[in-house]
Amino acid sequence: MAELLQRSPAGIAVDHRFRCLSCGGPEYQAVLDDVPDRLMRLSGRFSYGKCARCNLVQIREVPADLGQYYAGYGRHSKESRAYAFFRRVVTGRCYSFPRGLGRRLLDVGSGNGWYLQAMTRRGWVATGYELDAAHANDLSRQIGLPVMSELQQLKRDSDRFDLATFNFSLEHLAQPRQTLEAVSDALKPGGQVIIVVPNFQSREARIFGRKWFHLDAPRHITFYSKDQLAKLLTETGFKDVQFTDIPVATGFAGSLSYLIFGYLHPLVWYPAILPGMLFSLLVRDGNFRVSAVKA
Ligand SMILES: [Zn+2]
Repeated sequence: MAELLQRSPAGIAVDHRFRCLSCGGPEYQAVLDDVPDRLMRLSGRFSYGKCARCNLVQIREVPADLGQYYAGYGRHSKESRAYAFFRRVVTGRCYSFPRGLGRRLLDVGSGNGWYLQAMTRRGWVATGYELDAAHANDLSRQIGLPVMSELQQLKRDSDRFDLATFNFSLEHLAQPRQTLEAVSDALKPGGQVIIVVPNFQSREARIFGRKWFHLDAPRHITFYSKDQLAKLLTETGFKDVQFTDIPVATGFAGSLSYLIFGYLHPLVWYPAILPGMLFSLLVRDGNFRVSAVKA
């Protein structure tokens, strides 16, 4: 550790395992140390740093086998009716549901495919994307829609799509810039990208700190600010970048459970959803949506 990590008096560290995933910078300032996996309660401690060059907040060391942190991950499993209802009522406004009219959708980070299916019902010709090839194959078989798993595939299929969506998925990617470049290639000129991400700069994140629900270590790899994401989108071929804050009750309910129990406990999680809805009326910034148009 000592030979890997050197800290200057200004708190800037050089760690030879650190590499900013957005700009490639080698130095960071520590933001959070030794955060456990509170959602899945898997072993390990994870630390976050802010790139000294571009200020991106990201996990300091991307776990070598990220796939293991998705074993049994709820968003990848088939949805129960109760959860589908919960999603519609509590987190429904996070998602965009424009009419498709036969246009083509690419959904990056399709999880269990519910959004692909919902958009198909709205007239979209939908294609999914999942990093893990085995999960992509299983999902494609389950829902009967194509699900890609390679960036090269996206690049080959250039100028095909009218809309690309990242619903709480960009923050999970260890290659956010490369993925946005490939998605930019895959979109037709004038095509739209819509991204929803947790907001580490939000008041909600500051109130709950290392117990913030949307920190979700180690699955959440990067936390782009609005300015950083606008810059990344411009650099990857997009224009007309627009933001909307998205408050969600789960931020408060999950964070309160983490504060009291250290993990997601049903005794707090469920009763705190309603107060969470009130909290999200007052503190309206836990997540944000950004939309942009391919230049
Ligand atoms: Zn950077």
